[in-house]
Parts: sequence; structure tokens; C-alpha cells
Amino acid sequence: MEVKGSCLCGTVTIDIPQVAEEITVCHCHMCQKFFGGPFLSLAGVLPDDFKISGKEQIQLFMSSEWAERGSCKKCGSSLFYHSLADDEYYFPAGLFDEIDQAKLKEEIFYDQKPAFFHYQEPTEKLTEEAFLQKLFTDSE
Ligand SMILES: [Zn+2]
Ligand SMILES: [Zn+2]
Repeated sequence: MEVKGSCLCGTVTIDIPQVAEEITVCHCHMCQKFFGGPFLSLAGVLPDDFKISGKEQIQLFMSSEWAERGSCKKCGSSLFYHSLADDEYYFPAGLFDEIDQAKLKEEIFYDQKPAFFHYQEPTEKLTEEAFLQKLFTDSE
């Protein structure tokens, strides 16, 4: 699917011509802080595979040694999680308009999810340990 989106004030716009119709939810504590709740993430995209405008208005924060997070300097919207090792960008579904055909597929860091809600969609649920194990296995 093609998705177009922007931050709340419209200064930063993002156009992804082709991305999988799948949403992964990250429940980790850092995502909860940064996004104000669960991170409903599009599939990762490389810099050549999307266009972003208003770059000079993006503030970057190194949230760990392997990732930085971007937000809009003007309106504060959380814009992305950027994995430095493979250069993939993960954008939150909430920035995009026409995204209804996407399906919730996977929930990661499920053991860090707050107890007061559950998604009804059938998803693959991975604890931090299971997720890291899967990452490690996939990269071998
Ligand atoms: Zn903004
Ligand atoms: Zn997370």
C-alpha cells in the first residue's frame, strides 16, 4: 500500500510508496514513553524507500546505542523509530491517513504491556525474550 502522512502541525510530511499492509505493536516501556502509548508501527522502510519533507524541523533523540527517535520540533509529534544497525525507519500508523486496509499482525514486548487493555485482533504475541530470540535467529 502507499501511505501519505504528516505530523500534527503539517511541517513534516512522509510519503511511503510501498509498505506492507501490516502493523506491529511494540509495548516496550521506551515506546510507551515516546509515543504516549503502544507503538502501532508500520513495517520498517529504508531511506531510499520513502520521502520526508521538513527534515530541518525534526529533532533526533538517541534512545539507546542502537536506535534514535525523531519528533517534530514545532508540534512535538513523535515521528519515527530509526534502527541504526540496519538503517530501517519505523513510522507510527497514526501519522497516516489512508491506512484502513492494514492489519494488526504482531505484538512485541507483550510482557511490558499495561494490564488495562487488550487488542481484540488475533496477533502473534511475543515477550521481550521471545522477540529478541526471534531477531537473533532471523539474522543468522
Ligand atoms: Zn509538526
Ligand atoms: Zn518499543
